[in-house]
Amino acid sequence: MKIRYLGTAAAEGAPALFCTCAQCMQARATGGRDIRSRSQTLLNDDLIIDFSADAYWHGLRYGIEYYNIHDYLITHVHSDHYYPMDLDNVDRPYAKNPEDWPPFIVHGSIDDENEFMRVVRRRPEHLVFHAMDAYKTYEIGRYRVTPLRARHGSENPFHYVIEDGEKTLLYLHDGGEPFDETFECFRKKGFRFDVISYDFTEGLMESIDYYGHMCMGQNKALRARLQTEGFLNEGCISVANHFSHGGKCINWEESHELYEKEGFIMTYDGCEVEV
Ligand SMILES: [Zn+2]
Ligand SMILES: [Zn+2]
Ligand SMILES: [Zn+2]
Repeated sequence: MKIRYLGTAAAEGAPALFCTCAQCMQARATGGRDIRSRSQTLLNDDLIIDFSADAYWHGLRYGIEYYNIHDYLITHVHSDHYYPMDLDNVDRPYAKNPEDWPPFIVHGSIDDENEFMRVVRRRPEHLVFHAMDAYKTYEIGRYRVTPLRARHGSENPFHYVIEDGEKTLLYLHDGGEPFDETFECFRKKGFRFDVISYDFTEGLMESIDYYGHMCMGQNKALRARLQTEGFLNEGCISVANHFSHGGKCINWEESHELYEKEGFIMTYDGCEVEV
């Protein structure tokens, strides 16, 4: 399984649009891996996870042929994960596609279709919405996908378990700590993870006093729980991703070793993790 992180920032990007904080100013000066665009991930070469406000730019930067990828898995409605206005370009008059072209399918919760209709107010011919329920397993292309209930942004945001037949990914952006019912689902379905993409919106903080994002302290505790309860395959890779400019130590150049020390691979835009 190849996981390509196209965008690794939270909602405001890093450096953040209008921000002059020390971390943002440093990122502007350093450039390179300290420049983080909004969240998006490509799994192998045929499943897109999230379609953020930077999806267009990612397509150009990494040569991603959206016109050949038909499955789009959405976590939630925030613009760093989902940008309906650009998805609206899927068909005529904005795109010339062959008559027999398969539809482009947006897989997510009912919230994603509602948000699309609220913003775009038309239903493109070539775009299909596939509303899923949490804790059921769906076949999407060659993947088995299980949405997990999260609490973040709208009524029904999702985290995901994605199996490609060989490896299993747990994708936790964003949405706070998993509920107990999520652990129950892992037990029932017998999941064991080979790679986990942990939410690091708050970076190296030990704790935070609100629900909806994660930090180092929480992720270490979560990983320990997953280990204790037997959900990690041997050698399970821990990835730290989805950084906010307001989080502690999110610039790659100065911080990636601190993440490595704790056993997490710190992402940067364009990096690839293979399991
Ligand atoms: Zn986000
Ligand atoms: Zn800032
Ligand atoms: Zn969000």
